[in-house]
Amino acid sequence: SSTVVWFRRDLRTHDHPAILAAGERASRALALFVLDPVLLKASGRPRVGFLHRCLRSLDDELDGRLVVVEGDPVDVVPRVAAEVGASSVHVSADAGPYGRGRDAAVAERVELVRAGSPYAVTPGRVTKADGTPYRVFTPFYKAWLDHGWRPPAETGASSVDWIRSDLGRELPAGEGLPDVRALWEAFRDEKLPDYATRRDRPDLDGTSRFSAFLKWGVVHPRTLLADLGRGAGAAAFRTELAWRDFYADVLWHRPDSARRNYNRAFDRMPLDDDRERFEAWCAGRTGYPFVDAGMRQLRAEGWMHNRVRMVVASFLVKDLHLPWWWGARHFMRHLVDGDLASNQHGWQWAAGTGTDAAPYFRVFNPVAQGEKFDPDGDYVRRYVPELRDVPGKAVHQPRDPIVDHAHERREALARYAVVKG
Ligand code: FAD
Repeated sequence: SSTVVWFRRDLRTHDHPAILAAGERASRALALFVLDPVLLKASGRPRVGFLHRCLRSLDDELDGRLVVVEGDPVDVVPRVAAEVGASSVHVSADAGPYGRGRDAAVAERVELVRAGSPYAVTPGRVTKADGTPYRVFTPFYKAWLDHGWRPPAETGASSVDWIRSDLGRELPAGEGLPDVRALWEAFRDEKLPDYATRRDRPDLDGTSRFSAFLKWGVVHPRTLLADLGRGAGAAAFRTELAWRDFYADVLWHRPDSARRNYNRAFDRMPLDDDRERFEAWCAGRTGYPFVDAGMRQLRAEGWMHNRVRMVVASFLVKDLHLPWWWGARHFMRHLVDGDLASNQHGWQWAAGTGTDAAPYFRVFNPVAQGEKFDPDGDYVRRYVPELRDVPGKAVHQPRDPIVDHAHERREALARYAVVKG
């Protein structure tokens, strides 16, 4: 008997519940990935490039038997299943708004068996005693720990006999991924012990940089959770993975929050639409060096340090008074790790429109943030070459700023008064 494993955001064979389920159902399976034009169009080039690398590595793991087909999954998946005589298709559940709709449509045409999800705890599972969702992180976090998660599923490339087929197209050219397991072990042994104290410092490179691997499921968060050990660093890292689960949970309950304010009171907030200021922000030319360094890191690397993401987001919303979704869209176009739940809710957190948002009246000062989290100015000098000769933390002083922070802070608070009513 045959089945299909349809890979989406689970591009690995290790700790893979859907592969486990497929192996229990059938002796042979076809490994399928569908390049969906809708998703490709919505993804920026850096993210698609990274996806191609993930596919190449998965294909290597499967000894060249990954079948990649381009088209609408609602047509492709049932057709491929029929061609190999499979009556079922195995997937990891997708919690995002687009994926849920797509999967419902596929499930009308072929039996879709869901096992596992890209999260430690499947979105929707952690609820208050009365069954309603959490809106605040800390109680969610406690309930998430109480709920717990399964140990890693024992699977690998040889858990199933993969069908060799010529149904697919050539894999996109290029190189695969580095050895992700070795990267994790290096982080765990060298950086995790100090992660709690160093994670906020963009100059120190103290974080895992695993976000894109997690985004595509090259590694499952549960695999990492099982390998964290004890200590303050491990606890801090576990909390960050919980934020990832939390935002997926929030988006699951409120799919509309991908596009509009989670807290609808903010719909009354007066916003500007100054394209010129927006372009200056995108290009890293605001005159605030910490902001500009972040925006240029994004362009150069498809990644930005979390502290700086918070500062540039706050700047767009509270210094430039522009809609958070403009910034979120720019991020999604450029981030390698661009992820709808983490990105839109990271933005809503910064904008003060989200769940347990940083209160709106707390406005980041981009100069003070730079001086605190990049105390010697090394981060700024790395990404803003015209400031390379400015020594120490003097590098954080604004140069030809497009706005005056003190003034815009007052303006932001005045606008907020409208929301408060
Ligand atoms: P580490 O510090 O090593 O953290 C480990 C993992 O925990 C990360 O890989 C990530 O999966 C998760 N994580 C850490 N912080 C957060 C957080 N605040 N929210 C959710 N998950 C978190 N993260 C994305 O993965 N994709 C995005 O599109 C994204 N957009 C963001 C937009 C804004 C405005 C903000 C403020 C944050 C955003 N984040 C996003 C969260 C965070 O900035 C990144 O996950 C982190 O910088 C990735 O680097 P790392 O892997 O080295 O993180």
